[in-house]
Amino acid sequence: MTRNALVTSTIEQLRPYAAGKPIEELQRELGLTDVCKLASNENPLGPSPGALQAVVDALPTVHRYPDAAAFYLRERLCVHLSNNCRTVHAEELVFGNGSNELLELLVRTFTTNDDHVVFADPSFVVYRSAALAHGVPFTAVPLTAGYVHDLDALLAAVESRTRMVFIANPNNPTGTYVAEEPLRRFLQELPASVIPVLDEAYFEYASAGDYPDGLNLRDAHPKLVVLRTFSKAYGLAGLRIGYAVCPPELVGYLNRVRAPFNANSLAQVAAIAALGDAAHLDEVVKVNDRERALLAAELSAAGLDAVPSEANFVLVDLKTDAMNIYSELLQLGVITRPIPPLPTCLRITIGSARENQRLLAALRACLS
Ligand SMILES: *Cc1c(COP(=O)(O)O)cnc(C)c1O
Repeated sequence: MTRNALVTSTIEQLRPYAAGKPIEELQRELGLTDVCKLASNENPLGPSPGALQAVVDALPTVHRYPDAAAFYLRERLCVHLSNNCRTVHAEELVFGNGSNELLELLVRTFTTNDDHVVFADPSFVVYRSAALAHGVPFTAVPLTAGYVHDLDALLAAVESRTRMVFIANPNNPTGTYVAEEPLRRFLQELPASVIPVLDEAYFEYASAGDYPDGLNLRDAHPKLVVLRTFSKAYGLAGLRIGYAVCPPELVGYLNRVRAPFNANSLAQVAAIAALGDAAHLDEVVKVNDRERALLAAELSAAGLDAVPSEANFVLVDLKTDAMNIYSELLQLGVITRPIPPLPTCLRITIGSARENQRLLAALRACLS
């Protein structure tokens, strides 16, 4: 039988990933020079100066392919992630061109169109797009009224054909988190045939006492995959490097499907240097804590409530059409992120003190 359609019906349904508007694009469109981007949860302080120097030092070797095994980064990361109570082994790590690539790789490696995956709604849009791109049926489980993962409902959505469950912790776009005890129980109750993917892109920012470190939950499920990235708190989004910590059996399969050289050489050296600069990471987290609290207080004073966040962004319900406010903010040179499933909400990245003040002034002007 011949197929006339160029693509499958699921790819037909897909829409290109709506990235945060690039600064240069808004500058071109409106002739603005001073644009402030609070749309993609980027780090306002940038990476460690040591990471930048490592990139400069590595530039003369860019005619060589990267180390496909990421030997030095792997070794360095094992040291970084291991502590008195646990060890992370070299054979438990897979690197990706951002953790985005790893999400896609997990779906491609472990699921088919006879399977099924589960994730929350709204959560990180890549879970849905990866499932659609590969024709894998899915169930998107609404968050609770407080914008938190509904673990019972997620568990109830698991069927015999379910192969994977994605949980972003903290969640994007809400900044909410699931606590250690309920998450541990959830993992214990999840069938062993299901791969739980715990996406900890904002791990370094989370400071709540009961926020779990996914690496300490590996005893709760035999197939747990923990994803982390250098894009957020480490400030290396442009270099594209993230990693998965998971059982060696899964690593073996992921390595069969993974494109060779997917983690580039500049990203590898930058990540090693970034791990060596704990003081910079502390500063990044300290500034984020302070600015997030300030922004939440100022929003609240303006009659707007931000959802309590453990990440470097806040979700704000404007109680009006957020797309209009988004457009008006653009005119004022401030880029935020509309969240289509939540049409009255904007997601706002915590920027520098100056950027946050600029956002607040622009928002007050738009809402007055
Ligand atoms: C930003 C983000 C990622 C990852 O991004 P990469 O830059 O591809 O590492 C993954 N998951 C969530 C929930 C995110 O918000």
